[in-house]
Amino acid sequence: MKIFYKKQPLIEELKNIRANSLSIGFVPTMGALHKGHLSLVKRSFTENDVTVVSIFVNPAQFNERKDFEKYPRIIENDIALLQNILTEKDIVFNPDEYEMYPEPDTRIFDFGTLDKVMEGKYRKGHFNGVAQIVSKFFNLIRPDKAYFGEKDFQQLTIIKKLVEQMDLPIKIVECPIVRETDGLAMSSRNLLLNPSQRKSAPLIFRTLSEAKNKKHSMLAGELIKWVTDRINSDNELKVEYFSIVDSQTLIDTTEWEENRKQIGCIAVWAGEVRLIDNISF
Ligand code: AMP
Repeated sequence: MKIFYKKQPLIEELKNIRANSLSIGFVPTMGALHKGHLSLVKRSFTENDVTVVSIFVNPAQFNERKDFEKYPRIIENDIALLQNILTEKDIVFNPDEYEMYPEPDTRIFDFGTLDKVMEGKYRKGHFNGVAQIVSKFFNLIRPDKAYFGEKDFQQLTIIKKLVEQMDLPIKIVECPIVRETDGLAMSSRNLLLNPSQRKSAPLIFRTLSEAKNKKHSMLAGELIKWVTDRINSDNELKVEYFSIVDSQTLIDTTEWEENRKQIGCIAVWAGEVRLIDNISF
């Protein structure tokens, strides 16, 4: 695979690829790759002629510089993992901050309620930063398909809206959550957990799974309280929010509805590490 650090040579390479009518799949990541990311890469590899993987820790989507700075960066390891999947025709794009933001991006996006609730409420400006970088990458790479994980369910919903708003001819491919054997959703941030926090973290998905089974015996509001109390009963974990929302509008659900997809989304602090997960009800 070829590795590019600058936009211009990437643009030239993609021009050649398009001239040969080859299809392009794109997987945006912030690196510290794990099996969750690699499932997206494998899927793109099988569905396209050429796969482009970006590795870029996007400062615009972090609320605090400290969180941005402590985000894990293990680029040599990432490259080695990608080399096991990709071949010489594929591309890794690993720009630095200045290459992507030679000057501050002042664009403001508005996704209606989608970016105001849950992550949008607790991480102000986060999705604006995501939309800035993803729209830059979409313009630059102009993929046929782009791959996103259901782990970041709200982000996936917003990216689909972004593509719709901008009339981009890109198919967004939704990929299922990959989990550790104990159920914890794989995340680059899991690397930041201490042993005791790591031991407690699987309680998040265990509780979500049990909640799904309790759906018929509890109202949505009661279930929200049950999930929150159960996770908070572990000293290492503190729930920031647990919401059960309509999967398309992301508006809170108060009643169970058989003919609508409802999804429970959660954010939990383990010390200074913020973990998110979700389950379809
Ligand atoms: P990130 O590097 O955290 O920005 O994630 C890059 C992409 O990988 C996003 O589309 C995520 O939703 C996806 N992803 C991260 N973790 C997982 C996981 N455990 N399972 C599936 N997809 C994931």
